[in-house]
Amino acid sequence: ALLRRLVESRGAVPLSFEFFPPRSEARRDALRETVDRLAPVASEGFSVTMGAGGTTRTGTHDTAVEVARRTGRPVMAHLTALGLSREEALEAADRLWRSGVRRVLALRGDRPRAVQGPLPPGFAHATDLVAALRARHDWTIAVAAYPEKHPEAGSLDEDIGHLKEKLDAGASVAFCQFVLDPAAYGRFLEACARRGIEAPIVPGLMPLDGWTRLRGFARANGTTVPDWLERLFRQGEETPELMPALAATATLEQARRLIAYGAPALHVYSMNRWPLPLALARLLGHSES
Ligand code: FAD
Repeated sequence: ALLRRLVESRGAVPLSFEFFPPRSEARRDALRETVDRLAPVASEGFSVTMGAGGTTRTGTHDTAVEVARRTGRPVMAHLTALGLSREEALEAADRLWRSGVRRVLALRGDRPRAVQGPLPPGFAHATDLVAALRARHDWTIAVAAYPEKHPEAGSLDEDIGHLKEKLDAGASVAFCQFVLDPAAYGRFLEACARRGIEAPIVPGLMPLDGWTRLRGFARANGTTVPDWLERLFRQGEETPELMPALAATATLEQARRLIAYGAPALHVYSMNRWPLPLALARLLGHSES
């Protein structure tokens, strides 16, 4: 399968792109354009996020089905369990399966901010969800991985142990939280290999436009911001005309470093936009003809 993918992408590292379900008709139209632009270079297809607490499950389902129909590419739907009962989570999963979705990213998820008080009893950890999904259908199941550890985990070592449990429960690939320091991904790959994890661990690549917002995400996730990036963008902010060029060149630099550390593919957080992701794909050797 890897050989077929490499031939299809002419030796370029395979790419997938992540979307979130659009919140208005105008944004749905904009997403259609993004999907059409990126489809020719999305050798590993697309993924569609789900709001915390399963809040966007209809939007996730409908977007996943539409993207698959428009492009013929594989689409992975995220499924966040926390906040849903087991029955509700499995019902959402069954609906995806019935609509032809064959890839699912099984997530525990986070407590939805709007919900106070106790949540319905459901899947306490992604591991339980993976096992239930595995028993139900013959999917490709993916799970989340955290090169700089999940914020709630006591240590990276403990978190990697839980990642291994998720994979052993029936997942075959892990997608990573984004890093801004590619060396953190390199160290994580080595640590996973030492723990006997053999599944592909695909890094998440965040396009570096919208630096201020991204800096906020990084802070919330405990993502290390390397000094060279911090300096680059701080100086850039004094010269706004420079920002798009800095974002583009620094994103390519990140991608090349992740590949050098052994990334088997790149999962690009597109933020539903196409210009920088498409430029990146072309520079990495993907062509549309
Ligand atoms: P888990 O794997 O269950 O881990 C959560 C915590 O519990 C970790 O600290 C882990 O070490 C610990 N743990 C796991 N198993 C056990 C156990 N058996 N006993 C004790 N502790 C345990 N969120 C969304 O809302 N929507 C999305 O679409 C979305 N997409 C994502 C995509 C990617 C690639 C990534 C990396 C994250 C995504 N998230 C998304 C964020 C994710 O929902 C949160 O990080 C969430 O807090 C954890 O989900 P998980 O599936 O990794 O949880």
